[in-house]
Amino acid sequence: MTNEYKLGKDTLGFLKELTEIVAPSGFEEPALRRVKEYAEKFADEVRQDKLGSLIFVKKGSSERPRVLVAGHIDEIGFIVTSITKEGYITFTNIGGWFDQVLLAQRVVVRGKKGEITGVIASKPPHLLSPEERQKVVTMKQMFIDVGATSKEEVEEMGIRVGDPIAPWSPFTISASGKTVMAKALDDRLGVFVTLEVLRYLRENNIGHPNTLYAATTVQEEVGLRGASTASWVVDHDIAIAVDVDIAGDVPGIRPQDAPAKLGKGPSILAFDRSMIPNQRFKEFIIEVAEEEKIPYQLSVIPGGGTDAGRFHLYRSGRPSIVIGVPTRHIHSHVGIAHISDIENTVKLILGVVKRLDREKVESFTYI
Ligand SMILES: [Zn+2]
Repeated sequence: MTNEYKLGKDTLGFLKELTEIVAPSGFEEPALRRVKEYAEKFADEVRQDKLGSLIFVKKGSSERPRVLVAGHIDEIGFIVTSITKEGYITFTNIGGWFDQVLLAQRVVVRGKKGEITGVIASKPPHLLSPEERQKVVTMKQMFIDVGATSKEEVEEMGIRVGDPIAPWSPFTISASGKTVMAKALDDRLGVFVTLEVLRYLRENNIGHPNTLYAATTVQEEVGLRGASTASWVVDHDIAIAVDVDIAGDVPGIRPQDAPAKLGKGPSILAFDRSMIPNQRFKEFIIEVAEEEKIPYQLSVIPGGGTDAGRFHLYRSGRPSIVIGVPTRHIHSHVGIAHISDIENTVKLILGVVKRLDREKVESFTYI
């Protein structure tokens, strides 16, 4: 069973589009609308939960098992907390940010009248005392400058308290042609891979002994919320969360803290703080990778969790796993991922979906 999947230039264009959409947790609608418009034609049915998660159903030769493959559509961002009378925006985080990556970065505020560009700033260094200069500037001391000179001017732009903010970061294919740089690869990459699996099965008329539920979940970055609600719509028998893995091939990281490297294949996540995967399912995925000669990496994330943390606890419990695309510098303005890893992640999930029949899925939990 070989699979010939290749990532084309046209489909990469869809990834570019996905990453550039401003859609932090709770504000995913523009991204969801685009995803629906793109993927509807590959599905037999589109369903949704009432937080916004979209589910594309593709029938195979059997109603069960229901195989859930999911990426989360939200991204980390910020929210407007106030507008000062001088025309600056104060903000707080949506999801996990490291304060040190924020200063001097451009952001987009999604206001009532459209997207407004601004920059994250703080008191200029010229005016800091020597002691102040030694200290890290915290998010609380920062503000967003949209180039206005009064509160009225900012309000005139359509910006209100509670509006979402996301990084401004154009998608770039690196000079090597082998990697991509973008914001929100966590987890538009997972969404992209999920929809590629759906598209490829449909366009090549590939059979599978199950029903595929390709889902884009909302609000993962604020506590795996969409994963809980989507589960009730899907009622899955088995689940794969597709997310980014933290690439550890960065100066200062010990291999035991983040073993995955760029270009060495998808990560099969053996452990994170939200789930210890079903061991037989994990072994099965390794077997599929070896059989289809797809490179893979075994990985652990000592901190953090994924949507699978919810998927595996649905009802009486469901075998679940995380398959990750190793990505550098996640939770910042620019992540970097390897095109061959994206390709091999799609291939691995295709190989798994083609083989998951009722008997196989039951064998993962039978004692
Ligand atoms: Zn993620």
